[in-house]
Amino acid sequence: MSHTPEPISLPGRKIVIIGGGTAGWMTAAALSRFLDKSWSITLVESDEIGTVGVGEATIPMIQNFNAALGIDEAQFVRETQGSYKLGIEFVGWGRPDSRYIHAFGLVGRGLGLLPFQHYWLRAKSLGLAAPFGDYVLNNVACTENRFAHVQRAPDSVLPPLVYAYHFDAGLYAAFLRRYAEARGVHRHEGKIEHVTRDPENGDVTLVRLADGPAVSGDLFIDCSGFRGLMIEGALKTGYIDWSHWLPCDRALAVPCESVRPLLPYTRSTAHAAGWQWRIPLQSRIGNGHVFCSSFMKEAEAEAILLNNLDGKQIADPRLIRFQTGMRRQFWNHNVVAIGLASGFLEPLESTSIHLIQTGINRLLDYLVAGQPTPAERNHFNRRASYEMERIRDFIILHYHANHREGEPFWDYVRTMEIPDSLREKLDMFRAGGRVIRDQDELFDVPGWVQVMIGQGVEPQGWHPLADQLEPEKLDQFLTTVRHAFERDIARLPDHAAYIASLVEQTQARMTSGERS
Ligand SMILES: Cc1cc2nc3c(=O)[nH]c(=O)nc-3n(C[C@H](O)[C@H](O)[C@H](O)COP(=O)(O)OP(=O)(O)OC[C@H]3O[C@@H](n4cnc5c(N)ncnc54)[C@H](O)[C@@H]3O)c2cc1C
Repeated sequence: MSHTPEPISLPGRKIVIIGGGTAGWMTAAALSRFLDKSWSITLVESDEIGTVGVGEATIPMIQNFNAALGIDEAQFVRETQGSYKLGIEFVGWGRPDSRYIHAFGLVGRGLGLLPFQHYWLRAKSLGLAAPFGDYVLNNVACTENRFAHVQRAPDSVLPPLVYAYHFDAGLYAAFLRRYAEARGVHRHEGKIEHVTRDPENGDVTLVRLADGPAVSGDLFIDCSGFRGLMIEGALKTGYIDWSHWLPCDRALAVPCESVRPLLPYTRSTAHAAGWQWRIPLQSRIGNGHVFCSSFMKEAEAEAILLNNLDGKQIADPRLIRFQTGMRRQFWNHNVVAIGLASGFLEPLESTSIHLIQTGINRLLDYLVAGQPTPAERNHFNRRASYEMERIRDFIILHYHANHREGEPFWDYVRTMEIPDSLREKLDMFRAGGRVIRDQDELFDVPGWVQVMIGQGVEPQGWHPLADQLEPEKLDQFLTTVRHAFERDIARLPDHAAYIASLVEQTQARMTSGERS
């Protein structure tokens, strides 16, 4: 329970953002774009400390963020060495030899009142169904390595592909820095050594840098990463630990050279005590091994990572420690935590950058409306924790629903107690193939269905209305969907070729713009 804090006083309109990682520069860019000029925005970052340097896979909502900022997509892909992402492939998660894709976008086709999975479940029981992924549009594009921003073909019934990006985190922050500084954000380089609070109301009033100068503010946005310099260091807000459900607590990250084909998806490969990510960019592949130190030593984790690179290693592995969980309050006094400072869920479904985006949206909601009140601050905190708890459940699902019997780490996560909210979802799906989902949850029904089926969760039944379709009609329906997807995807270009032509066109456009 969050207590009701003292009234929020914002005597002036001076915002100080602490930290210049993805969170800091996304916040600076968005605030400079949407707040009027009566606000001043300063960002403090320390080159000496640096950024976490990972966080390169996203989900489709990032398009809304970039679009709201008026960012040209082709230029963004070019400048961040980006690639397109249609989903995540999970290798070895359900069983050591299984694989499936959690793809964005269209799953099957609507028919009558029911979500697609009910027809598929019935067809499967009759021996009429191909693997579920064959009826998922992006899945077909992933397996064929194809991508384009196609508008619907005249004879097609399909919508455009739903996609996100992979990008270089450092280049993205630099890109947003240029954007924010061009809109008046002041940047201070230096290490903060001291935080001063008002002795009467406890609000933060200023931060002092190592070499002397002080930066004062009315509202502080803590984007200082895991250390949570303001929200925890100064305000001692407290942390809710979820490591009993998500016990991985280390990651080793290492880049390697690119290989072809350039896959339009992230890959997550399960290992003995964790999993390995593979994020393909134009210029390199980002890799990392997330593992649980109670079940695996660092040296073994490193050996597994380095033995499973697709290209030549181009830097030394870097160790990152973390604790899964969230702050007791995201907004405490006049400090709002965004990014890793607010909490952390491992990057299995690429949700952290999305959480930065929703944190910024919520903050803007209140700042644009006027002077935020304590009630709004409480509301902010409730919405933020609800959002994280629902994503937490989805991530736990991947671990818990496994059939990797006899492996100590996987045995632990399969047999552990899980949150009631997840238990309900699993029970309902097992009973009748149904997924219940609250309005505000991030992951949609097709997402839950793909992961549950992919992990080998077997429903006992399906919605009775699906029985009303004759087996021949059901067969015809599924075949039509599958063939339509295959036909439409076969028309698309290769992912790497598409990016190359996009980058070339942007380059040509920029050169001709410079000349004229
Ligand atoms: C292993 C791993 C993999 C991840 N993969 C993904 C992914 O694929 N997709 C995704 O969405 N997210 C991912 N994330 C999360 C993602 O990396 C972060 O959400 C994102 O990078 C934002 O980080 P940040 O800006 O909050 O913190 P940081 O990048 O750590 O930045 C903190 C900033 O604060 C500054 N700072 C700190 N202390 C001080 C001080 N005393 N004085 C001055 N400045 C200070 C630092 O200099 C830095 O600029 C991953 C995270 C981890 C750990």
